[in-house]
Amino acid sequence: MIYREKPKFIMKRNMQKSVQTGIYFDSLITHQIIRQICIEVTGRDDFDVQFVENDYKDEFLNATYNQGRLGILQYQNTAIYISFSDEKCEGRNSGIQSVPTAFHRFYSNPHQDKQIYFYFLPCAGNNATPYYLFMYRLMKTAGFHFINIPPILAGQITAFSSIDDIVRARKENGDKNSGNNAAYIIKNGPHEYEIFGKTYGANKYDTSLICYAISKLACIQDHITLYEYNEKDLKELPASSLSVIRSMGNIKIVNIDDELEKQEFENNNSLRSPRFHAHLLEKLGEKHCVLCNCGITEIVQGAHIWPVADIKRVTTLSDQEKLAYATDGENGLWMCQNHHKLFDSNILFLSPSGKVSYRVDLSKEDEEYIDSITTVSNLSPELVTSKYAKYIKKRYDLV
Ligand SMILES: [Zn+2]
Repeated sequence: MIYREKPKFIMKRNMQKSVQTGIYFDSLITHQIIRQICIEVTGRDDFDVQFVENDYKDEFLNATYNQGRLGILQYQNTAIYISFSDEKCEGRNSGIQSVPTAFHRFYSNPHQDKQIYFYFLPCAGNNATPYYLFMYRLMKTAGFHFINIPPILAGQITAFSSIDDIVRARKENGDKNSGNNAAYIIKNGPHEYEIFGKTYGANKYDTSLICYAISKLACIQDHITLYEYNEKDLKELPASSLSVIRSMGNIKIVNIDDELEKQEFENNNSLRSPRFHAHLLEKLGEKHCVLCNCGITEIVQGAHIWPVADIKRVTTLSDQEKLAYATDGENGLWMCQNHHKLFDSNILFLSPSGKVSYRVDLSKEDEEYIDSITTVSNLSPELVTSKYAKYIKKRYDLV
């Protein structure tokens, strides 16, 4: 990069949909906005601006449309990437959908002296929801600076201090009881984390940002696995996101495919199957015991209703059918380790209608103990589906 005495902005005019919308970057990014950015970032109010066409390229811009809604500000030896929010914020995360791409362009550029900023364009819709704040905090953690934070968010866009801090925030603002979250971050033990990330539609932006931030915070002892899943056609995250995560180098990326599941099924009765867990997250939301509501993820497990060992013994099923039963989300419930063991030891029973009961010959003391840790006497109605009842009958051989 050549040394720039005077700040110089270079931006692509064409956005991805400019031809359809008739909105070009030079009409969106006004002189006033550019001046504000320049003062904020460089402390100067004199600058040059160049809007360029698709065929223009230099060491920071490819010969294409404006990928990532970016402007590049070159000042002295520093390349400053400015990612502009979307002018529409109507979908869950539509205001920041260009951010993962912008970060990829920034991250993959070999220039040493570089920074990335985010600018809030005026938007139709609310971009200050708890959900957006969570995303901005992930961005801050990944390395974004913010130029014009809306007053309502003042002081709130702080970087996360640890992966646990992200997990906690996610638990507090995520959708606990259903599979609506785009990505689940699960702590399985000290330094053990799994990210179950959906890869389709708007979910891929969330998953990408979560991975960027987690990767940034990971320390040398941390083991982090990203499971990519997409029930529709097992697509991966966008190549640009994967390339950033790979080069950050501390998250293992695993695509939940048939081969992986087959191996897991053949070698393991307790089945730490990523697909089974993904299905449970989808059905039940964040890990929390269905019998006592315990949400400490380190001790909450996916419990099979019809046990894997029993499924394996059925001679009339093909391997593929067995695998389908073993990984079916309807064939599982989240249970804490105590309840899982009580359930598997036939000390605690579940009826096809979801009623909880205990073995009849328990000592009074044991019964009182189980009673004291079991806060639920009937599974909540949304869990008691016809498939649930079918699996319970298979479990107790009531068929
Ligand atoms: Zn429990």
